[in-house]
Amino acid sequence: MIHPTPRLRFAPSPTGPLHLGGARTALYNWAAARAMGGKFLLRIEDTDQARSSDASLQIILAGLRWLGIDWDEGPERGGAYGPYFQMQRLDLYRSAAERLVAAGHAYPCYCTPEEIEAGRKELEAQKAGFVGYNGRCRHLGAAERAAFEAAGRRPNLRFRMPEARVLRVVDLIRGEVEVNTKELDDWVMLRPDGVPLYNFACVVDDIGMQITHVVRGEEHFLNGIKQRLLFEALGAECPQYAHIPLILNKEGKKLSKRDADTNMLDYRDKGFPPEAVFNYIALLGWGFSGDRDLFTREEMVAAFRIENIGKSGSKFDEEKLRWMCGEYLRRMGADELLERARPWLGTAVPEAVFAGHRGWLRNALACYQERVALFGEFGGKLGWLFGELPVLDAAAQQNLAKDPACKAWLAGYADLLAASNLAPSYPADRAAADAAVSLPSKKDAPPPAGCPWDTPAQIEAATRAFTERIGVKFGSFVHPVRAALTGTDKGPGLFDVVFLLGKDACVRRLRAAAR
Ligand code: GLU
Repeated sequence: MIHPTPRLRFAPSPTGPLHLGGARTALYNWAAARAMGGKFLLRIEDTDQARSSDASLQIILAGLRWLGIDWDEGPERGGAYGPYFQMQRLDLYRSAAERLVAAGHAYPCYCTPEEIEAGRKELEAQKAGFVGYNGRCRHLGAAERAAFEAAGRRPNLRFRMPEARVLRVVDLIRGEVEVNTKELDDWVMLRPDGVPLYNFACVVDDIGMQITHVVRGEEHFLNGIKQRLLFEALGAECPQYAHIPLILNKEGKKLSKRDADTNMLDYRDKGFPPEAVFNYIALLGWGFSGDRDLFTREEMVAAFRIENIGKSGSKFDEEKLRWMCGEYLRRMGADELLERARPWLGTAVPEAVFAGHRGWLRNALACYQERVALFGEFGGKLGWLFGELPVLDAAAQQNLAKDPACKAWLAGYADLLAASNLAPSYPADRAAADAAVSLPSKKDAPPPAGCPWDTPAQIEAATRAFTERIGVKFGSFVHPVRAALTGTDKGPGLFDVVFLLGKDACVRRLRAAAR
């Protein structure tokens, strides 16, 4: 009897990090479980002991948590269907194996790896149309088995595939597919040391954990056929299978390490917003209603149906992922942005600024909110705000060298600022005014009453008046001045720069450049 509540699982092997494909599989199973009001569990397929490690497991769990994929049963949570580590379930595999042998569905195979290989080559040479295990031990009698045992051979257990049976199976994504079992050989279920192989352990556990739906990569499609037969042999009902197409690179080839970060935690560490990565991964094979690309987890859950996963491979596009990250950053409030970007500002922003000038720092980040995609990109942008003088890059030097008259403008502007009521630096007393300031500056701001310098818009009006007075084209003025103040020709507009630096730093930097 299939469980009345949908139960889905993600079953990673802890032999490496959580990569993009695994994350997508987890995400779809999670979303399907949540959409159907079912349970999502995590099963750790750690039977490849040589390659499995606790370090990999921790990286996988951290990757899932970072993406906001939570599990109802599994490691760290427990549950009524555990244990959730396959190496803790060896007794269950042994007793299932005994039942299968007793019923004639499995048999001991004494072939050595060399004999198996030789048999395979022979089939190949005969052009038998089938290449795999030749079935030598399929029909051994008791005496032959005893002879192998006496010779000290310890058998693998093989599943006896039905001969030439045509299976018509329904996959939730591919639809109806026909497979002839003669294309598949008798496969090894259990090693002599009692450690199961993937297909066998997977089925025993899918039965034991009462899994109702399995969503996984299409590389498991043929495994799914073997698994269906094993369910049948064990007298259990098979879950509904959905095999999702591969993720491709831009050229339409299988995605490789060169095309994308293979560890989810690399995205975390570079400061990708996880909700954007979640959103992007969700779209690798599934579409939200209409042509909407951005949606929340809750919206996805409300809309998700396994049947709507696409049949063709979807392409991973790093640019689109970054665009999406940028969209998420732009929708963030200033406080949230500062809080979440903070781990990446560590070395760029002095600790005292965090403690004493949060309002100012919020404004500094806001200046870049339209220009960056990742939390991790803020740190590298803010360096010019601190320290005595900026380091001039090549473009800044060019800007300063363009017009010989430029030094005089810089000196004049320095004097103007020195005499103005621009705040001296980024002191705490600025924080109250910050709330009222809208950034980035707007050209259509009303002209200043008197000559206040409290907002970028006011700074702009006063600066324009100054350039008119000295008879310099505004466009020619802005670039060298910004270069002198920031050391580069990129970054926020001049008035945001002046506003953020404050009087002391502006005057110091302008005078240094004028010298
Ligand atoms: N451990 C398998 C894998 O990582 C699980 C496949 C499945 O979901 O059945 O590919």
